[in-house]
Amino acid sequence: MTTTTTTALTHIANLVTNDPSLGDGTPLGLIRDAAVVIDGDRVVWTGESSRAPATDNAVDAGGRAVVPGFVDSHSHLVFAGDRTAEFNARMSGRPYSAGGIRTTVAATRAASDDELSANVARYLGEALRQGTTTFETKSGYGLTVEDEARALRIAARHTDEVTFLGAHIVSPDYADDPAGYVDLVTGPMLDACAPHARWIDVFCERGAFDEDQARTILTAGLAKGLHPRVHANQLGHGPGVRLAVELDAASADHCTHLDDADLDALGQGSTVATLLPGAEFSTRAAWPDARRILGAGATVALSTDCNPGSSFTSSMPFCVALAVRDMGMTPDEAIWSATAGGAAALRRTDIGRITPGARADLVLLDAPSHVHLAYRPGVPLVRAVWRAGARVV
Ligand SMILES: [Zn+2]
Repeated sequence: MTTTTTTALTHIANLVTNDPSLGDGTPLGLIRDAAVVIDGDRVVWTGESSRAPATDNAVDAGGRAVVPGFVDSHSHLVFAGDRTAEFNARMSGRPYSAGGIRTTVAATRAASDDELSANVARYLGEALRQGTTTFETKSGYGLTVEDEARALRIAARHTDEVTFLGAHIVSPDYADDPAGYVDLVTGPMLDACAPHARWIDVFCERGAFDEDQARTILTAGLAKGLHPRVHANQLGHGPGVRLAVELDAASADHCTHLDDADLDALGQGSTVATLLPGAEFSTRAAWPDARRILGAGATVALSTDCNPGSSFTSSMPFCVALAVRDMGMTPDEAIWSATAGGAAALRRTDIGRITPGARADLVLLDAPSHVHLAYRPGVPLVRAVWRAGARVV
């Protein structure tokens, strides 16, 4: 006989379930004066507080809001060092000619396994305190067979959602032989990395990898059981989004520069458009138009892109606020995209919602409504976090 302890979270002023069949019938499935019952690591009941079944324990939410744990489906956390000087120069209008990603590659190669793992744990702790209960992270700062495989092994200690990004940039060791680097990525590097990853990603952009190179790399990954995701259309218009849809990638990430054909493809395919507002914020770049992407019928996710160069934030609430303020999303859309949208971008149905059967990942906000995540930007509103039924904050 197994015995588990049931816990009810009661007197929730506003509960975001992300199940449109519940509550007010909107995509957020909002239930007012709600309760959630957790049994072990799962949600077993959601509904109005007055109808909650008897449980072993109860936690009074005190008229606050509860949202699903955030699903951060795009980050680059296995790195060493930082790029403060580069950011400071960029924001001060001064030219800066250090190596960008290459700077981080050099620091990461020089770091020990323990240093890299401690860094991942540190940024994960930050994210958890801000309500992130699932995150994806990538390699991409090693760019040798050994350094890429090492990054993935370290990432896999912290999450199941691990992505091989050997094709982040052409390795500086292959500056004169990009075709040779593609051969390395699709050959020995893929062989060494595939056992440690679920996903394969390519930075498909002018100056990184072109359409043919990206297709070759992603197709090689598919043959090894890795599913594609693509860094697409960030710095300018390009083939990345359409390639992502062609290969049924789980996600096309950035989607800053889209034409009508890209929007049609996203609207018709099952590839999620993942918007990363921290990147536009941190580089003072033009914002993607989320209204246009949503209007095309695409599924939209929001994510941090946490990395030391172009978006050094681990905060999903910050990204929600930016998406509302600068990308034209409604607060409801932004919160859906940061939870259920992220789950869709990872092709997961067990997270990003608070419904019976889902993993019990919940964020109790120090606010009466989920809208406060955008309404009160920069304020630490996360009061408590449960992940898989355990209170972790
Ligand atoms: Zn990225």
